[in-house]
Amino acid sequence: MKKIFPLLLFTTLSVAGISAQSKTHVIAHRGYWDCEGSAENSITSLKKAVEIGVYGSELDVWLTKDSVLIVNHNPTTLDGLKVEDCTAEQICKSKLKNGENIPLLIDYLSAGKNQDKTKLIIELKEQTGLEKQKLIARKTVDMVKNLGIEDKVEYITFSIITGDELIRLAPNAKVAYLSCNYSPAELKQKGYTGIDFSYLCMKKHPHWYDEAKACGLTINVWTVNKKDQMLELIDKKVDYITTNDPLLLQELLK
Ligand code: MG
Repeated sequence: MKKIFPLLLFTTLSVAGISAQSKTHVIAHRGYWDCEGSAENSITSLKKAVEIGVYGSELDVWLTKDSVLIVNHNPTTLDGLKVEDCTAEQICKSKLKNGENIPLLIDYLSAGKNQDKTKLIIELKEQTGLEKQKLIARKTVDMVKNLGIEDKVEYITFSIITGDELIRLAPNAKVAYLSCNYSPAELKQKGYTGIDFSYLCMKKHPHWYDEAKACGLTINVWTVNKKDQMLELIDKKVDYITTNDPLLLQELLK
């Protein structure tokens, strides 16, 4: 027993040491798409992100003219349809770069429902007009609740209207803000759980690392694809790095 005890203690300390080093988590930006058969925001990109075991897979959400939630990054499709001016039926006929149709959010979330490895990092895009900026939050929170996946999602947004509405409707959810125009202290005051700022924004406001930590906010930095910037942020012990190169970041975190 005397011999086993120090060994157990050593093992426990080692595990604690590893977890302290691995504080930074990988978020695959628009899923893991830089690989065979995948494309940004495709259901395949989510499945590939789960396969490589990242902490989170990010996706972008818009409302169509008939108030249906779909997954796409740009305000327009590759074939030039403006999402907000078209019906879901029209939009979902458009293809992504890998030939998949633009997914409905319900189908996308359902594809990520039956796994526990990877969080769905849902970005609600800034909609035109106040009412739609609130509606996109309401419809998404309802969908997540109906699917019973509250513990599998985190929210991010550039729209303070949408973010505030998310906090009101889902007070236990993680909600982080993407735009550089509020300080960590101001966002904490408003009920946000994290900042999710660009690398350049954080360069301009280096004191926000400490301010966010002091407030108890998580720190996510985007979109970081260069090794030296990843190493810098790992050294700063940020909570998340959002990247187009999740394999490189995983390698650096080993
Ligand atoms: Mg996004």
